[in-house]
Amino acid sequence: MTETRELLRKLPAVDRLLRETALAEALSKLPRRVVLPAVQDTIEQCRREIIAAGDDSSELQVMDLTPIHLAERAATLAKKRAASSLRPLINATGIVIHTNLGRVPLAQEAVDALTGVAANYNNLELSLASGRRGSRQEHLEQLICELCGAEAALVVNNNAAAVFLVLRALAEKREVIVSRGQLVEIGGSFRIPEIMSASGALMVEVGTTNKTYLRDYERALTENSAAFLKVHTSNYNLVGFTAEVETAELADLAHQHNLLMFEDLGSGALIDLKKFGLPPEPLVQDSITAGADLVTFSGDKLLGGPQAGIIVGRKSLVSALRSNQLARIVRVDKFTIAAMEATLRLYLDEEQAAEKIPVWKMLATQEARLQSRAEKIAGQLAKLLKTAEVGIQMGISKVGGGALPAAELPTWLVSVKPKQAEISAVELVERMRDGEPPLILRLQHETLLFDLRTVREDQEQTLVDKITGAFQS
Ligand SMILES: *Cc1c(COP(=O)(O)O)cnc(C)c1O
Repeated sequence: MTETRELLRKLPAVDRLLRETALAEALSKLPRRVVLPAVQDTIEQCRREIIAAGDDSSELQVMDLTPIHLAERAATLAKKRAASSLRPLINATGIVIHTNLGRVPLAQEAVDALTGVAANYNNLELSLASGRRGSRQEHLEQLICELCGAEAALVVNNNAAAVFLVLRALAEKREVIVSRGQLVEIGGSFRIPEIMSASGALMVEVGTTNKTYLRDYERALTENSAAFLKVHTSNYNLVGFTAEVETAELADLAHQHNLLMFEDLGSGALIDLKKFGLPPEPLVQDSITAGADLVTFSGDKLLGGPQAGIIVGRKSLVSALRSNQLARIVRVDKFTIAAMEATLRLYLDEEQAAEKIPVWKMLATQEARLQSRAEKIAGQLAKLLKTAEVGIQMGISKVGGGALPAAELPTWLVSVKPKQAEISAVELVERMRDGEPPLILRLQHETLLFDLRTVREDQEQTLVDKITGAFQS
């Protein structure tokens, strides 16, 4: 007890710590209002540690309460607090569209467009041809229409907003008929029944979980029916005894009865995924050809662009959306437009899109290439890490982002298994996540796994440094 009291009394004061070099240096670079609380919190943390140790004198003896050490600790804390909260990181999980990690990186062309527009004034709403006021949508509409074969297009904040706007503007207080097999939850709070009710449309469910036929839709028609909604069940697969109505059939039935047909495609691919050995995804252009009146999809899933929701379809309907109050609420900003235009331009040449848009590049990376990269990195790590077993093993990368849940992309993983009881795999994962840049990986049992599919080749050296660094710190 006396020992504890003694230590508590000896804890240096704030002023004393601020005279140490580490903190003087921190103060020269960081705002005082960041450094001071870090010092106070460090002292408070020490006080708690001393109290928590109680009478355990062995624990108390190893505590380093010298001003120089505490000042360093406070300086590290201050630096950490002053760092950006949103930071670039390395994704070694092999999940290509990773919503928690910002979904997908942009193509360099999109990054350049974004920077140029961000740093300068621009013609967001000015027609350079006439000198008159223009629409921000004009920068994208023609390009999207050309790529999707649609009459008109509108880009909004995200696909959830796109679906909401369509339902609100075109089906408020009217019935929208949807299959029970398509009442999906996309993640977070995006659930079709909830979106439908929030929009003011009246949801009418038809069919069963596994099977819905055209006649189910037909039987549900009433005076108050406005539309059929088809939702691409992008994040789960219905296998076995199933039936779904094709877009073309549903669009035909809708039009026979003067109804509209909406399709929410989720990811919305513009390139045929079969070319990459992946299961097919419905193409936006196919839904338009099949007769869907409006099709909605995300900008930052398989499209590989910025967060956005794209609505394509009939001109009169898109005009109605545009003039709805809600369109202003969900409108996109200049950054999104800049990055989206640059991304879409790459799609004008499919080969170029596959080469330059990261999502496609990652999906298309061949297994043999991943194997040789994994071998190279494992070789380097094996030389540097004396306290781990390093190897490579076959594995599976995932598309992620609620797209193609069943798709399995064969890959090669670098595996690192710490040998000694000195440091656990969990501790290593934490250290890597806490690094600069942070490194996010997979942990399987006691083995760290790194999937190079989502790691760029120019990030490989950093990857090696971060892995070895985590063993040392
Ligand atoms: C992802 C998804 C959405 C939501 O798109 P966001 O762009 O994330 O808002 C809506 N519908 C489906 C079918 C989806 O897969």
